[in-house]
Amino acid sequence: MEETDVTVIGGGILGLSTAYHLTKSGYNVILVEMAKIAACASGSNAGAIRKLDLTNEIDSRIYAGSYKMYQDWNESGELGCDIDLRETSILRCFTDEHVERMKYGLWKRRLELWNREGLHLVKRDEWTMMEPNITKDITWGIETSTSRINIFRVCRGLAWTAEKNGAKIFTHTKVKGVGVKNGKVCTVFTDKGDIKTDFVVNAAGAWSPIIGKMVGIEIPILPAIGTALVTEPTPSITKHRRILYDPLWHDPHQPFVVNSTDPCQRLGVTTEIDRHLTEDNYILARSEHIVSLPSKGAKTQTEPETLKCIAEGAIRLIPKLKNIHVIRAYAGMRPVCEVDGKPIIGEVNGIEGFILATGIWHTGMSYGPMCGKLVSEIIQRKVISIPIEELHFSRFVKNHHFPYIHLFRNVN
Ligand SMILES: Cc1cc2nc3c(=O)[nH]c(=O)nc-3n(C[C@H](O)[C@H](O)[C@H](O)COP(=O)(O)OP(=O)(O)OC[C@H]3O[C@@H](n4cnc5c(N)ncnc54)[C@H](O)[C@@H]3O)c2cc1C
Repeated sequence: MEETDVTVIGGGILGLSTAYHLTKSGYNVILVEMAKIAACASGSNAGAIRKLDLTNEIDSRIYAGSYKMYQDWNESGELGCDIDLRETSILRCFTDEHVERMKYGLWKRRLELWNREGLHLVKRDEWTMMEPNITKDITWGIETSTSRINIFRVCRGLAWTAEKNGAKIFTHTKVKGVGVKNGKVCTVFTDKGDIKTDFVVNAAGAWSPIIGKMVGIEIPILPAIGTALVTEPTPSITKHRRILYDPLWHDPHQPFVVNSTDPCQRLGVTTEIDRHLTEDNYILARSEHIVSLPSKGAKTQTEPETLKCIAEGAIRLIPKLKNIHVIRAYAGMRPVCEVDGKPIIGEVNGIEGFILATGIWHTGMSYGPMCGKLVSEIIQRKVISIPIEELHFSRFVKNHHFPYIHLFRNVN
């Protein structure tokens, strides 16, 4: 039997970052991943990194902490590779109808937030970079920028550094059970053997409810599928590296409409067109709707209807894309908290040593580095650098029942 201080379940950004921080603090760590490193959401995202969030102070502080770590890793090379942190330009596209809607309701609030970030609507003929290939229906835009990273190098770099600092990483090893004795975790059972452990970190993403059931708790996380298509290499037909278009119905907090007859609304399809960071391909995305977990393993199958909606949306925005071939497609499972869409982080009351780090569905790469540090502080019984009580699992528990709103199941 293996023996360790901490067993981390999940080789995505949250599990890897936790293992990285704990080993730096001298802890013995075993990370168990049922597939390979970055097999799921952490290996299928756009790698866009947020630096702030004006709507939420905790998120903002976590993003800022993570961004600082990315800068340090980029400069120091500590992760053993170039993580490719770089600033890229974004154009958010709007029609006249959008601008009309920005006088009231949800779109008004969205515009106010952008304005608070210093971002303003600009008429098409005043964009700093002209985009002749974007459909003439787009009459307005907001030009901004974002940081991006190479997600595979970050994940593999964190795994490499954690191993260098003493972690054991068991890939292709599935957690089958978690033993609890006298209210405290003691064992992790895997298909390759058992691990005696003082702490268990549940960073299993969309699968975290299955791990929760192993200790008798119901974690309100659902799998929301995110999908992307990759084009063949092609000369650039855009000036901005990232072009975004949200249709009028789109609400970032409730991004799909369960019973809609419009497939794009039902599948939560909006349009993102990304020029690859270093290659000549375009990446076309995205979707967001609740699906079932894969029956076996971590590999997420793409859905033909979703691929069609994404491709059609991209062509509507940039008609020239019609002449460019798609060479592959991929999808990942975003772990979304069906109650409030917020992360779930912290030790579960009544199960000593069982810690949750899950529910980050849009911004895991921006959250991950700092979140791993917070989890390591919880395990070290230190004062937490950022107060995260409101992300605690106890927010769902009231008089021993679960008053779920089922936000994401019943939207109409
Ligand atoms: C298309 C798409 C685009 C996105 N774009 C961005 C973006 O630009 N920026 C950003 O910040 N975020 C983005 N995200 C969100 C981001 O990918 C997620 O928030 C983040 O990857 C979640 O990380 P995680 O570690 O929680 O989950 P995951 O990466 O899914 O890791 C969980 C791991 O647990 C493993 N596991 C599950 N069960 C078991 C078990 N029983 N035993 C062992 N291992 C197990 C799984 O195999 C998996 O590898 C995007 C997501 C998608 C899908």
